[in-house]
Amino acid sequence: MYSIEKVDTHVHLEGYSPCSNFEVKELEQLVEEKNVSVTCITDHHTIDGALEYMSVHKTIIIPGVEVTTNSVGDVLVFSEDIEYLKSLAPTSTTGKILMPITLESLKSGDDRVLRKVDALELYNGTYSMAIFAGSVEAKHLVRMKELAKAYDVAMTGGSDSHMPTQFMRAYTEFPEPVRNVKDFIRQIKEHKVTPHFNL
Ligand SMILES: [Zn+2]
Repeated sequence: MYSIEKVDTHVHLEGYSPCSNFEVKELEQLVEEKNVSVTCITDHHTIDGALEYMSVHKTIIIPGVEVTTNSVGDVLVFSEDIEYLKSLAPTSTTGKILMPITLESLKSGDDRVLRKVDALELYNGTYSMAIFAGSVEAKHLVRMKELAKAYDVAMTGGSDSHMPTQFMRAYTEFPEPVRNVKDFIRQIKEHKVTPHFNL
């Protein structure tokens, strides 16, 4: 019987994201240990890591790209179109699914990107720890929820893993099977997903 799919929507691999110390073989090991059947790989401006992983491992991989923009900080882009993902330039903001993930993007007050996105990343594994520890005010989460409601977009969770201990710290629940990118995108667009954070 099918149970809810827990998907880490934000993962960086060593060798593909310069800032990451999370090796491909460590991800393989964690996927086995945690019994994860689907994970995203979202390196900075490349899907090469995701493609390499997909070629050698049976886990379902949702390839994405984290794109740095001049105006609103970083966004995650997912698409069924692999060539499109490969083509994303560092300043592109025209993704088919965009998730602004930085506090700065919201502080800027620029809502042009917000009007185009399908989801906001409510929980990010790297800053959510700080929020729960009290060093970042929890009102940020309240603000994110207000924005998601105002712009009628879904909310997701992703660990933003740069090392093995961060994997699945934040994740997104999908109530229906995620067999491919299409299933992933559809459930986000239909607001069926729920963000989670592991303390
Ligand atoms: Zn990231």
